Formats: sequence, structure tokens, C-alpha cells
Amino acid sequence: MDYFLYRNGQLHCEGVSVEEIAGAAGTPLYVYSAQTLRHHYRAIAAAFAELKPAICFAIKSLSNIHVLRLLAQEGAGFDVVSGGELFRAHEAGAEMAKVVYAGVGKTDQEITAALEAGIGYFNVESEAEFEELSRLAGRAGLPARVALRVNPDVDPKTHRYTTTGKRESKFGVDLERAEKFFQRFGGDEHARLDAIHLHIGSPVFSAQPYVEAITKALELIERLRRGGFTVNALDIGGGFGADYGLASSPSAMDYAARIVPLLRNSGLKIILEPGRQISANAGILLARVLYIKESGDKQFVIVDAAMTDLIRPALYEGYHFIWPTRSEMPPQRVAGFSLPDCRKVDVVGGVCESADFLAKDRMLPPVARGDLLAVYTAGAYGFAMSSQYNSRPRSAEVLVDGSQWRLIRRRETFDDLLMAERALE
Ligand SMILES: *Cc1c(COP(=O)(O)O)cnc(C)c1O
Repeated sequence: MDYFLYRNGQLHCEGVSVEEIAGAAGTPLYVYSAQTLRHHYRAIAAAFAELKPAICFAIKSLSNIHVLRLLAQEGAGFDVVSGGELFRAHEAGAEMAKVVYAGVGKTDQEITAALEAGIGYFNVESEAEFEELSRLAGRAGLPARVALRVNPDVDPKTHRYTTTGKRESKFGVDLERAEKFFQRFGGDEHARLDAIHLHIGSPVFSAQPYVEAITKALELIERLRRGGFTVNALDIGGGFGADYGLASSPSAMDYAARIVPLLRNSGLKIILEPGRQISANAGILLARVLYIKESGDKQFVIVDAAMTDLIRPALYEGYHFIWPTRSEMPPQRVAGFSLPDCRKVDVVGGVCESADFLAKDRMLPPVARGDLLAVYTAGAYGFAMSSQYNSRPRSAEVLVDGSQWRLIRRRETFDDLLMAERALE
């Protein structure tokens, strides 16, 4: 669900023509819809309302500070995975008590910064990390609250690169080890261990893996409580799907219908860490067609955006719907469609890598040099994963709200490419 709609054959983001924005801000360009961000945040809040959860937006999916501010105003907390994200949350005016911090490789500086900021939970991933956190908390005289990340060993049926909750994953500890973990650290005086954290992977296009993982976590919590330990909170992570295809993902209501009944009588504070379900459909990437190249019976549509702007297709075969922003033919957002005027093409960028493609064997209406293409569902892990590889300055980002739009990140310049190097001269 999003607010990107064709009106008179022209793509609009909310009340503004995207062609008009691209004309002013240039391409490649990320365009985000504020209404879509709010819509998805509110849909999750409404679906899980009975549990009164803390909704901690995963900053890594879309980290622009103006987007974080908008979500903080909606009441969101944040899921951070680095000192840099902690800094972003702070600068965005987040309530730091609503920040949770995951990651297997937290450094001493990052832990200390999070202690000083007074975050809600450290999601701890190993015994060694707990010991270090306890030592640093004791030294700083600042209390830490800890959730143990457990590995429920369920298969989320997503790409193997984004599966995180299986036994062989580097994240969290196995369920059997979790009890030993509590026996060893449950009474720690500096770091208070009183919660369980899960994150099984992403995107997870079904509620079933959550049901399995949460059921296992609740059994563990029951055993821990019988063993005399206090468990106050359960963080069920993120990974909730977004519509890359058309209505291809369960809605927040669909997930909640299966998850809420499991948790309603648990007496646990519930934390959610949605990223893409809020941000993915809220953003498109605009790319201008540079060249059409025929090669055998293949046609390449070469555009000014590349894997440096959107790496998901190259990195894990991520699918993004693409359509011209000016088109008499309504967008055909269904798998395997075929229309007489359409042609199967590869949409590729100009980077010197064979993996540099945005779409392969995709039906598109005829396009020509100068046409503008919209790459959908690019709000999550789009700009956030962009790079300057091939010394390509990163694109600009725009936020649309109703009939207004504004630049929320200026386009990088060639000087930006050299900034950190010139500082040494
Ligand atoms: C990446 C991540 C998320 C968010 O994943 P989405 O698929 O964007 O919802 C949540 N929690 C943790 C710990 C993560 O690593």
C-alpha cells in the first residue's frame, strides 16, 4: 500500500508529479512519501494495539534523519545496530529509553555511548559481549538493561543471506544455551538481564515462522520463570514483509491476528522492530533512461541509477517493480504479465560489474532516451545501502508530504568524494 499513483498518465507521489520533482532535483533520486510512512507505522500500531507494544523502527532500513524525526513524532522508538545509528537516533530527537541496540560486534566505544544515552535495551548476542557490557556499565556507574538474543532455529523461508534465526547463524545463542546464560548472568549487578530478543530474518512473508519462534521463546520464558528468573520483556524483532509485488505480503493485521493471541496473557512488555514494512513501500528510486542497446534478441535499457544506488537486485536477487513515470498503459504490477506493446528488457546501470542490474527479463512498455523510470519499493535498504563505488556521488533524497516536497539530502558532489582524503593534505 502506498501513495504513488498515476493521474492523467503521470506518476504522482501524493499531490506532486514525480517528473516535476526530478526536473528540479535531478536523477537518480529517491522520493519518499510521508503519508505512506505514517500509514504503515499507524497500521502496525493499530494491529498490535492490544499489546501496547514499543514499535522500534529499524534505522538500518532507511536512516535519513528527517524520516527518523517524522517517525519519532508518530511515537516510534528505534532499533539501532551501530554507534552511528545510535547517533542518528539521538540527533533525530528520539526518546532514548525507546531505543534497542542489536548487533554481534558492539565495540567498547559504542557500548559506552549507549550506556550514557540511557537506551532501553541492549540486545546481547554472546556471553563475551555480556561480560564486556557488565564491566563497562560497572565502570561508568550506569545501569544496563539486557535482552538475550536467542536463536529459535526456525526457517523463515527467505533468502539464505537474510536468514538470521537458524542454528548455524552468527546471531544470538541457541535455546539450550539461553538457560545457562541466565544461570550465569541472571544475577549480574551492573547489567540487568530480564528480557528475550528474537529476529528470525527478513523479509518473512508469512506469520507462521513468527508463531513458531514466539512459541519456543514463550516456552523458554516459562522455564526461566519457573527457575526463579524475572523476564519482563520479549522483543520479537522485525522482518515483516512489504509489497514488492502486488499485495504479495501479509498486512500488519495478518501478522497480528496470529501473533497477538500468543502474547496477550504473557505479562510481557512487547517490543517490535519493523523496518521495511514501514519504509519499503514509502520510497521509489527515479532513474533517467540514457541509452537503449540491442544485443542479439536482448534489449538493455541503460539508466543513470545503478547498483551503487540500489544494490538489492545484485546482492540478494531482490525484486523491484519498474514502470515509466509517464505512461498511457497503467502499471502492470503482476507477475508474468504480457501485453502486445511490451517488450522484455534488462534495466541496467553504468557500473563496471555484470551484477549491476535493477531488473532482468522484465516486460516494459517502449521507452526512449530521456524517459523517467520509477523503481518501486525502494524505501528500505535502498539509499541506506548505497555507495560511492566507481566514484559515483550518492543520489539526493526528497520527502513529499501532501502537496509539498523538500530535499532531505542534497546530491553529493565530486568534492564530497574527496572530502575525507583531502582533510589529510
Ligand atoms: C534488520 C533488522 C530488523 C529490521 O528488518 P526488516 O526486514 O527491515 O523489518 C529488525 N531487527 C533486527 C535485529 C535487524 O537486524
